[in-house]
Amino acid sequence: MGIFEFNPFIMYIALQHDLDHIQTLLSLTSEKALHYLSSLGETQTSNTTPVKIETSSLETEGKGLENTLESFYRTHGAHIVASSGPKYWGFVTGGTTPAAIAADWLSTVFDQNPQGLSGNGDLSARIEIETIGWMKELFGLPDAFNGGFVSGATMANFTCLAVGRQWGGLQKGNDIARTGLQTTIKVLSAMPHSSTLKSLSMLGIGSSNIIPVKTLPGNREAMDIEDLKACIQEYQEFPLLVVSSAGTVNTADFDDMEAIAALQKDFPFFWHIDAAFGGFAACSEKSKYLLKGWEQADSITVDCHKWMNVPYDSAIYLIHKKHSKLQMATFQNSNAPYLGDPESNFSYLNFGPENSRRLRALPAWFTLKAYGKKGYESIVENNLEHARLFAHLLEQTSPFVLAASVRLNIVCFTVKDQAEPKAFLDQVWLKLNQSGKLFLSPTVYNGQPCLRAAFVNWRTTEQDVTEGIEELKKTLQQTSEFPE
Ligand SMILES: *Cc1c(COP(=O)(O)O)cnc(C)c1O
Repeated sequence: MGIFEFNPFIMYIALQHDLDHIQTLLSLTSEKALHYLSSLGETQTSNTTPVKIETSSLETEGKGLENTLESFYRTHGAHIVASSGPKYWGFVTGGTTPAAIAADWLSTVFDQNPQGLSGNGDLSARIEIETIGWMKELFGLPDAFNGGFVSGATMANFTCLAVGRQWGGLQKGNDIARTGLQTTIKVLSAMPHSSTLKSLSMLGIGSSNIIPVKTLPGNREAMDIEDLKACIQEYQEFPLLVVSSAGTVNTADFDDMEAIAALQKDFPFFWHIDAAFGGFAACSEKSKYLLKGWEQADSITVDCHKWMNVPYDSAIYLIHKKHSKLQMATFQNSNAPYLGDPESNFSYLNFGPENSRRLRALPAWFTLKAYGKKGYESIVENNLEHARLFAHLLEQTSPFVLAASVRLNIVCFTVKDQAEPKAFLDQVWLKLNQSGKLFLSPTVYNGQPCLRAAFVNWRTTEQDVTEGIEELKKTLQQTSEFPE
């Protein structure tokens, strides 16, 4: 019997079937995807009926892709919300540009694993480096930063603060990457995002080592620089990381970057900027002043799945090249203490927290190529107008009042003259969610209950904003029918 007649390696029947019909099956999948996209404006922004999913047991045989698609839509189809749609203003939720979607699909199909510049036989690391270069140009940042893609701003903050931790240890002769944390590091911040606290926990620095810096008077979330200076002096015996906000989630407030940069000339500290969404303020002449001086930071986080409008699972870290050695010491994936010159023997394996990754840069590469600087300027400026219009209309809708002035793309508002403002806003929020037409998120700002709307979606139009206000008015009517 010849070897080709006897073949024990028979592909599993459902896999063989799907392989034989892959074109039809992927077309079917793409039809489903296109249906979702074309009805995004009408799809509910939250689950209007409670989700009750019965968990099932694992299939023994498996019925192939077509059946699985059907089964998925039967169980979960009705629960997919329009989070990438034009009226999803909760959290800071970006959408997906057409070019970014196409590239995300391709990235999955290619299934590359970006690592180094030599020896891997693929171009992914080059694509990632080129994309980082474009993003630095988009933001008007100098070439002085190394950058890479991680899954979100939380991981970008983690990555940057890990390098800050290594820097901090070395101030006391402690090579933390090798010998573990033997140094207490203090972190100075006024309004850190929750992910900064989480990163400090994961890094072993400890979230309780944050020293809260005062905010500016007058309903602000930005750091009081005089207090920052006082804290730096008070805690100077410790290695210090300063974490500043370029866009707080409640009111999109910005720390004074130039003032912090100036302090760095007199005091040693590692300066990280969380610019998860606020980094995109650099795309418009109208808002880029907010970031003046940020190029002097040691590291910067920018999310891509927010204002860049690429699908989830995308953010970048930018770390100053003067810290290349610290970055490699922190993320070294080889037994060699150093892999030599980072420029000539560069590998992402030694520069970031992950080893194998998807080609995460591709959606960003495509969307930047497809829409360019002008496209992003227009997305940002449109969203700024949406925030302004929404705030303006809201001010004419009693009992709503702005909780803070609109600095960028976020509108934070509350109610006046209500006996139970929290209960009132809870009702408004509940009714909104039951309508499924508009999504906002509740928050607490300055000790008062608030709702907030964040505009970062490229699809949002002026009409969406006026319709959003109409929805809010409807909920007001329904809410007033519920006496407290
Ligand atoms: C959203 C956000 C984060 C966390 O980002 P993920 O992408 O959810 O990990 C961090 N900081 C700020 C300021 C944010 O807005």
